Amino acid sequence: MQTEVVLSLGGNKGDREKLLFRAIELLNDHFQLIKVSKIYQTAAWGGKAKGDFLNQLALISTGLDPEEVLDIIQEIERDLGRTREEHWGDRTMDIDILYFGSLEINSDRLKIPHPYIADRKFILVPLSEFLPDKIHPTTGRLPLEMLEACKDPSEVKIWIK
Ligand code: ATP
Ligand code: CA
Ligand code: CA
Repeated sequence: MQTEVVLSLGGNKGDREKLLFRAIELLNDHFQLIKVSKIYQTAAWGGKAKGDFLNQLALISTGLDPEEVLDIIQEIERDLGRTREEHWGDRTMDIDILYFGSLEINSDRLKIPHPYIADRKFILVPLSEFLPDKIHPTTGRLPLEMLEACKDPSEVKIWIK
């Protein structure tokens, strides 16, 4: 069975644009890549990181289970120079699973849908353009509904179309 999975990618250290291109290439080696979003620039979220982030979303299809997908994206993060640094600190690459079909998981290692989707403009702005019809399986809300209710004051700008 193939499942459509939405991933978020982002980094604020090193050659951010090149790292995103490379991450997409590596994702394509492991999954069927359906499409990728534009790249967006956002000021760091959560107060600990310094440089602005570049963020992007990818829609993939896979027959693997969520744990296996997490293993692969963590391997890609390591390949791209990610070290286990401060939570929410500066990083070369962070890849999160936003949605895994309409599955809901709440384990120690994996929370799906990603718990902060509705709180982060750097996710909601890209998501409302990239997958405007994607319904949040827990809340039943569309990206634009979440964006309108979101209190995140950050500015999210298109970096590359
Ligand atoms: P945030 O989750 O707030 O975006 P982060 O991405 O900075 O924080 P990390 O340090 O990259 O957090 O990851 C910490 C752990 O989060 C991972 O080791 C992984 O087990 C767990 N995790 C839970 N749910 C998910 C998910 N949906 N996607 C990716 N990792 C997840
Ligand atoms: Ca993250
Ligand atoms: Ca992460």
